[in-house]
Formats: sequence, structure tokens, C-alpha cells
Amino acid sequence: MPFEIVLATLNQHKVDEFQRILSERMPGLTVLAYDGPEPVEDGTSFEANAFIKARAAAAHTGRIALADDSGIAVDVMGGSPGIFSARWAGPGRGAQANLDLLLAQLGDIRDPNRTGHFHCTIALVVPESAGGPHEYAAVGRWPGRIAVAQSGAYGFGYDPIFVPEGFEVSAAELAPEVKNAHSHRARAFGALIPELERIAAKH
Ligand code: IMP
Repeated sequence: MPFEIVLATLNQHKVDEFQRILSERMPGLTVLAYDGPEPVEDGTSFEANAFIKARAAAAHTGRIALADDSGIAVDVMGGSPGIFSARWAGPGRGAQANLDLLLAQLGDIRDPNRTGHFHCTIALVVPESAGGPHEYAAVGRWPGRIAVAQSGAYGFGYDPIFVPEGFEVSAAELAPEVKNAHSHRARAFGALIPELERIAAKH
């Protein structure tokens, strides 16, 4: 049965990733890119920011909407960089500057005090016009620790300094299919898909 949802992102790679992962389990599902007005992301948590984006897309399109928000949280830093992960070293500075700053901030802190996790929240908003109102947050956490130096060339963002629990190498040294099977996003999708299946069954 055809089932269309909008994804609140301007990033076509993200739309393709969501389409690929979701349609493996739900063959009739189509992910549409939301290209309407962008809300101000002024929430103070991953969940708040994901819902700000998903609610805006649902309100503007009248369709079921998804939005994700993710980042890295370091325990000894009280969960920072957290929602500021993408611009930790300042707006527009980029991934290398972000991870260099995080390594410098951790300084000579050593294991077992370098623990942290990647976090992903995917917000799902069903507006009244699509059978709602209904909201759901799918959360995924990928625990690990921050390495003392970067390694690996796969992935993006903080992958070169994140050593996932159960591995001795960084996330940037894992083949993409291995990362994609274990990551915070994979775990959030694991929670999202049953909820989407419940909603699709009612359509
Ligand atoms: P976004 O919410 O998916 O745009 O992610 C925000 C930021 O979190 C990214 O710019 C990265 O710095 C960081 N991040 C999120 N997911 C990952 C990941 O899988 N690997 C490395 N960094 C990530």
C-alpha cells in the first residue's frame, strides 16, 4: 500500500538514506524531501530540535513528517558537545576543527573517564489531516569512548575519534555496513520502524 512521508531536511543524502532503510522493511513507503520554510532550531535537547523540525514539516505539508537530530555526548563534559556537535568549534569551522577541539578539551583525561555516546532522535509527527494528532520519538544511543588520537577514513563528523563499545577501532575504521548496522541511527530506526508499521496498518 502506498505510504508517503516527508523528511524535514535539505540534505538529499539523508532523504536517500531514510528511503533505503525504511523501504527495506516497508516496501510501499516513499520518503519525500520537505523543502518548505525552515524553523529556528532553538530547542535545548536533541528531541526538542527534532520535534521543532518535524512539526514544521507536518504543519506545512499536512503529511506525516519525520526529522532527526543527532550528535556526540561526552560524559565527563556533562553531555557536550550534544546539540552543538555540528558547530562545536564555531559556525562553519567543519568536522576536523570540531574533533580537534574535543580532543584538546579532553586533554590528558584518560580511560575510563573518556566515555560517551552518539545520540540520535528521530521525531515522528502525524498531523490531524493525516490521521493524527500523534507524536513519537525514536531514540538510539551508541555507547563508546573518545580515543586520544584520530584514526580511520570512513564516515564523517566525530567518527575518527569515537571507539564504539565492543570494538578496538574507531567508527571511521569500520566498514560502512558495519557502522550502519550498529550506529545510533540504526538503533533509532529500530524503534521507528515498528511505530511506522503500526501507523501504516491504520492507513
Ligand atoms: P545531524 O543532526 O545528523 O546533522 O548531526 C549533527 C552533528 O553530529 C554532525 O554534524 C556530526 O558532527 C555529529 N554526528 C552525528 N552523527 C554522527 C555520526 O554518525 N558520526 C560522526 N558524527 C556524527
